[in-house]
This record gives sequence, structure tokens and C-alpha cells, in this order.
Amino acid sequence: MIIIIKKNADEAQVENLKTLLRSKHIEPHVSKGSLQTLIGCVGDVAHLDPGLIEALDVVESVQRIQEPYKAANRKFHPDDTVVDCAGAKIGGGHFGVIAGPCSVESEEQIVGIARAVKAAGAAMLRGGAFKPRTSPYSFQGLGADGLKMLSVAKKETGLPIVTELMDFKDIELFNDVDVIQIGARNMQNFQLLKEVGSYTTKPVLLKRGMSATLQELLMSAEYVMSSGNPNVILCERGIRTFETALRNTLDLGVVPLLHRLSHLPVIVDPSHATGYAYMVDAVSVAAAAIGADGLIIEVHNDPPHAKCDGAQSQTPEMFAGTMRKISALRKSLFNA
Ligand code: PEP
Ligand code: MN
Repeated sequence: MIIIIKKNADEAQVENLKTLLRSKHIEPHVSKGSLQTLIGCVGDVAHLDPGLIEALDVVESVQRIQEPYKAANRKFHPDDTVVDCAGAKIGGGHFGVIAGPCSVESEEQIVGIARAVKAAGAAMLRGGAFKPRTSPYSFQGLGADGLKMLSVAKKETGLPIVTELMDFKDIELFNDVDVIQIGARNMQNFQLLKEVGSYTTKPVLLKRGMSATLQELLMSAEYVMSSGNPNVILCERGIRTFETALRNTLDLGVVPLLHRLSHLPVIVDPSHATGYAYMVDAVSVAAAAIGADGLIIEVHNDPPHAKCDGAQSQTPEMFAGTMRKISALRKSLFNA
């Protein structure tokens, strides 16, 4: 962090500022130019509020030169993190596809879809049991019963299961869950992030909030990691913009940018990003081509009758076609 001192600043005020910085375990390095005086801050500035310093009379402005996230930052962890999801690896060249319905609807439905997506090459099964619905009148998910059905599908197919935790009070029901999804609407539920991070080292799939900046996404990852869980997978699932023609606007360029900023794996959700099943194939291919570490795709055996997100759900046949294309693309682009 660099503090720019106001012209004609009083020497005593500068000394007071240096004392304040030292009290916060930061060593101030003053450099006096003919036009401007700067103070370079050496030490851990993560706990220093730049706004507090900027509010001081003697200070012209404050510039951060280091990102506020440490655990998620590639600068401090140059190698890609590989997250092991009960044997399915994601990141560092390992590409994994998570597939399944938006919501678990019955044992027969989830077991059938699990078999179909496994046959097509999915590495993990998704299915919501606790659903964050915009309307309280919409299907809210089967809750604990849905989790039991996911366990049956896991037993039948061997696929690790990914499902959303909305409220930490339900965590004990998640013993058989392999990856805990934190949804877009809860990305900044800091209490939930801290509770999950300190309770378990199971992988956490952290979806980007619909109006979250990348820094906010990485700070949310930081909450989980600094609480004790290093196994975070980031997920771009579209953001809200002026465009209403699609459900969300897929911000695909964040994949290489997140890879530059962070060592964490980045996956893409083409289903929530677009809202339309016919687009999911093309967008999945684009996401794989740009270097995503995986995908999370909604697949339903009977989309017109799905209890949730049928319009964006691929049929198992569509999904199998997408998997074939991705495999061919990854072979030709990445020799994978
Ligand atoms: C989901 O994956 O079913 C979901 C609700 O996603 P998001 O949190 O990204 O809206
Ligand atoms: Mn959904």
C-alpha cells in the first residue's frame, strides 16, 4: 500500500501517521520528492482499512498495490490447486464435468439421470435438495429426503455428489455429500462461508454472485480458505447485466483472468448462465476451449415436466453429444 501525503503537510502530522502505522505492525518508508511525499507500507496490510487512512487530514490518497486476498492469490501459491472430490480431480489439467438435475425429484429420477450422465462421462452428480428459489411458492426441494435419494444414486453409480447447502443448521445431513455447493445467492453469506470453512475440508463449489466482482468472489473464497478449508472450486454462472434476452450474461473472459489471479480451479455453469437448453452445448464447448477446469450442467430425463429449471436442462442425449464434443475439443486443443 502506498500513501500519498498532501502538499504542505505538517511534519508533525506525518509523524503521527507513521506512529499509527507502526502501531498496526506496518513499517512506513517515507520518500520525499520535490512535488510529493509518499509513504510505502511494508508489512501485512490485510488488516489495514485504506478508507481509514484516506480519511486522515494529512493524506491525499491511498493506493493498494497488493490484492486483499492471500490464500486464494496465485502470487503466494504459484502452482494450480488440484481439488480432489472423492476421487474426481478438478484443476491443474484435470477437467471434470458435474451433471444432473436442478433438483432431486424422486429416487427413480435421480438414479436414472445418474446412470445416464455417468455413461456419458460425467465425473460427478449434481442435484439440489435445498433450493434457493426466487419465489416462496415455487418448489423448494425435497430437503433431507432429497439428500437420501442422492446417496442412493451415489451408491448405485459410484459418482461423487454435489449439492447446495443453504443453511449451516443442515450440515449434519451432508455427511455423505462429496462437494458442498454454495449458491450464487449465498456467495456473500460470510457467516455460512466461515462455518463451512471451519467445519470441513470437503471441497466447496463457490458460485459467483450475480452481481459480484471477481475480487468479491475471491474474497468469499478467502473466507472459506482462511477458516481452514483450502479446497475451493470457483464457478462462473453468469452475472446480471442490462441484457434480458438470456437468463444471465456469461462472463467467460473471467476464466483466464481468475487463473491469472488465483491458483484455484474455475468451472463454468452454462445452464444458469444462458437459461436455454439449446445454448448449453455451444457454451460448454466455448468454456472448455477458453480453459475452464470443468463444467456443471443441468440434465433432466423429462425437461418439460421438471420441477425446476426445465427450460435450461439438457436431455441425457443432448448431454452425451456435448460430452463427445468436449472430449474431441480437449484432445485437439490440449492433447488431453
Ligand atoms: C443451482 O446450481 O441449481 C443454482 C441454484 O445455481 P446458482 O446459485 O448459480 O443460481
Ligand atoms: Mn437450477
